[in-house]
Amino acid sequence: MLMGPFEESIVKQSRLQKRPVAIPADEAERNRLLAEMAEQSTDMISRHTPEEWRFIYVSPAVTHLLGYSVEEIIGMSAYELYHPDDVEDFKRRSPSVSYDQGLYTHTYRFRCKDGHYTWLESTSRSIRDPDTDELLEILVVSRDVSQRINAEQASRRLARVLEYSSDLVAFVTPDHRVTQLNEAARETLGLELSAHQPLSLARLFTPESYALLQQQALPVANEAGRWRGEAEMYSHGQQCTIPVMLEVLAHRSLDDRLEYFSTVARDMTVVKEAEAKKRQYQFEIDHAARLITMGEMATGLAHEINQPLTAVVNYVRGIQRRMEKDCNAPMVQIAEPLERIGSTALRAGEIVHRMMDFTRKTDPRWEMLELPPLVDELIRFCVSNANRHHVRLRNRLPADLPKVWGDRIQLEQILLNLILNGIEACDQKEDQGVPEVWLEASMKKPDQVIISVLDQGAGLPVEDPEQLFGAFFTTKADGLGMGLAISRTLIERHGGQLRAANRPEGGAVFSFNLSTR
Ligand code: ADP
Repeated sequence: MLMGPFEESIVKQSRLQKRPVAIPADEAERNRLLAEMAEQSTDMISRHTPEEWRFIYVSPAVTHLLGYSVEEIIGMSAYELYHPDDVEDFKRRSPSVSYDQGLYTHTYRFRCKDGHYTWLESTSRSIRDPDTDELLEILVVSRDVSQRINAEQASRRLARVLEYSSDLVAFVTPDHRVTQLNEAARETLGLELSAHQPLSLARLFTPESYALLQQQALPVANEAGRWRGEAEMYSHGQQCTIPVMLEVLAHRSLDDRLEYFSTVARDMTVVKEAEAKKRQYQFEIDHAARLITMGEMATGLAHEINQPLTAVVNYVRGIQRRMEKDCNAPMVQIAEPLERIGSTALRAGEIVHRMMDFTRKTDPRWEMLELPPLVDELIRFCVSNANRHHVRLRNRLPADLPKVWGDRIQLEQILLNLILNGIEACDQKEDQGVPEVWLEASMKKPDQVIISVLDQGAGLPVEDPEQLFGAFFTTKADGLGMGLAISRTLIERHGGQLRAANRPEGGAVFSFNLSTR
């Protein structure tokens, strides 16, 4: 009979122990089968001497697992191949195998032929002489568990990262029971998990955000795998709400059953506060800019208000004279001048109102706006200024222009800046005729309107128009150089862009786009 190394070694061992080799036929057959199984197994089966754990036998799987041939490893001691860090542990444990008839499993690193270490999981048992109880050898079955160990190490690392992450992490069952909270979540929310009292997901959030989770976040995560959005959590320690950017992930089993959700929340308190501060600063800057614009217009407006006041005084004097001549003058004679006094005073009042409106501190109000009448009003407002500079203003916006989405005060602020700049640019031009500043509009896409303010002035003072939008860029003796920079920010807040260019016919054009929905 041809014997494999396993059978051979059994026979050799028997000879070694001076035991008869007489194996009953059925037992011989069993041994042959066992030997064949050992030879074919992908697990490495090995037998070792009890003291030094020298290999007496090893199955061919050794080549696949460790890179050694069977012949190379026979006679080697397992101690030579243990990772230095695992030797002590193994020495400590080996008596329990040798002396307590132990059958035990342990995981350790073993050196491969090429020098690298691989993780093996081995089950060892001691083989004893049934008569004398003498320890004969150790039988070991080993398998490569590197992949499992690496995966376990990776998940342990990941679990550590999650535990100490500054994001608030929670694991939640499909019936909304919280099973785990990381350190940041426990501390920020002032909650602890206890074995006796289940913690409901509802306790982590404000009622509105919990409703959002129930109605949207969890169903969407269940369907699509994840959901992301803003929410508010509740700190039981600080008794305050915490704005968060929330990510909800659904975890499924291999048979596609929903096992649990995890929620990862990023505390946005600082970001939100910074945003609010930025909004406040912007609000103050916008307001200051409007005050500056009004300052620039003051002379013109004073003239504008003075005119109706002088007219009112003249009408009143006229009535006085008439009454002095004839104190019984019929009402019809003074009705018309009185009417004029009323309407003229109203006009002056309108200008004052307009100024107050423009300089008032108000929060933006977003609405659909009709531009042509808004531009008409602005032109009326700027007329005295234009007159002083001998410039004519024109509204060439088509009357049927679709409404645009914006804040009225901000749009007026932008247009006023551009119109006043246009007027001043015309002033610098020593030309014949009355130069014009006018507004045009055209459709870009179905939902975009382009508004342009054009002038017949001197043109842009720089080659690269972008320079004009830098803060404090000015070519005017008393200019601040903030008008265009602020106008650009305001337009960007409307989702548009502001650009400048020279017109081929002379003069400049400033254009921006606004949305019609
Ligand atoms: P300021 O009006 O205080 O100078 P702006 O930011 O409004 O500040 O304008 C910056 C500069 O851009 C102006 O000083 C001027 O040189 C140039 N500019 C603005 N509008 C026009 C225009 N329509 N034509 C020519 N140059 C212009």
